[in-house]
Amino acid sequence: MPEQKRFLRHVKAYWEVHRHRIAEEIAEVLDAAMESGQLIHYAGRIQSCQEFENGVNVKICERGTHKDIVLQVKRIVNCTDANCDYLKLQHPLVASLQEQRLLRPNTLSMGIDTAPNGALIDADGNVSQMLYTLGTPRKGNLWETTAVPEIRVQAANLAQELLKSLNPKPDATTFVLKKPAMLFRQLFDKESCTYTYLIADPETKTAILVDPVLEQVERDLQILGQLGLTLGYCLETHIHADHITGTDRLRSLTGCLGIVPENAAATCADQCIADGNMLELGNVQIRAIATPGHTDSHMTYLVNDTHLLTGDALFIRGCGRTDFQSGDAGSLYDAVTQKLFTLPDDTLVYPGHDYQGQTVSTIGEEKCWNPRFAGRSRNQFIELMKNLNLPKPKKMLEAVPANQHCGKVLVALDYQI
Ligand code: FE
Repeated sequence: MPEQKRFLRHVKAYWEVHRHRIAEEIAEVLDAAMESGQLIHYAGRIQSCQEFENGVNVKICERGTHKDIVLQVKRIVNCTDANCDYLKLQHPLVASLQEQRLLRPNTLSMGIDTAPNGALIDADGNVSQMLYTLGTPRKGNLWETTAVPEIRVQAANLAQELLKSLNPKPDATTFVLKKPAMLFRQLFDKESCTYTYLIADPETKTAILVDPVLEQVERDLQILGQLGLTLGYCLETHIHADHITGTDRLRSLTGCLGIVPENAAATCADQCIADGNMLELGNVQIRAIATPGHTDSHMTYLVNDTHLLTGDALFIRGCGRTDFQSGDAGSLYDAVTQKLFTLPDDTLVYPGHDYQGQTVSTIGEEKCWNPRFAGRSRNQFIELMKNLNLPKPKKMLEAVPANQHCGKVLVALDYQI
């Protein structure tokens, strides 16, 4: 510190002259003005300025000789750099920050104290998380901080610093807030090889069942009870042909709402869901993606952007058939390749059925290894689907009309029996 003060007292003027040299063209103009007597140069300290009617009397103590020189001038232009003595600055912003102790003048009377990133240091020595500066105010800390090349670097660094503070890297806490844990269960019906999905928000304890199976209603109620969940909705991916949905029975037992895809030939829905609709279950978000082809109104559901319930549009290494219920192979190819295969590769694929005991896959895996789609053109896919020659599902004649009523028809028959 004493060396810095001594430097400022004795060497500063020489430093400024030699470090910050003027442009040659300007030097030439000044030289000519001095030669012609238009410009006279004095070195010294101003002792006093006294205003009179037509100007100012300036008293200068000449450097070296210590003689007094008195000049009568019309104007004074101060070219001695910005005043960065923050104890003397009268600016309202500076005064207010000082009053609140949010800044600390530098002890060399040059600017204010700042951290290496430009953050203000307050009167108690704390680094601010909100207030930053650059350029002249940092002169006491950096010394060379007033020229454009220096300010340019400081501005770039400060911009990066502020960006970081605006988009902090997610820590464990923010991760939990953004992607809350959900309760997710995959349940299986052996007879039809159907997967039912139980999804719930652990906070509100509200649950949804996707593609429930009539024969498994007791199982579903049991697990809901064991986990302390309230069933809010039953949601269908499509009108099934191979099993009867448990929606109507669950609805009458729990008071939940039945949701079916828009345009499905169903008369039983409490609510319809259309492409792009979002169903919210506390912190769980379920987005409907229209994936026609297996049936003409089939929906796939993307849960919290991570779990994709593909129904019969996409199976693990396979897909649903397209030869009845207004099925269309071309539409299925388009829906799978253009909508599902454009989701992130790590999206988990949970199908509506599996006949080999497989439970989960990913979009990346299916793009690579699904023999129905991988390396196959649209026409080749249509040709393949046309020649599958599958037998009609055993339950089709009773399941389709029953499911058009959310399973109600068969439930009525069941009671009669
Ligand atoms: Fe199906």
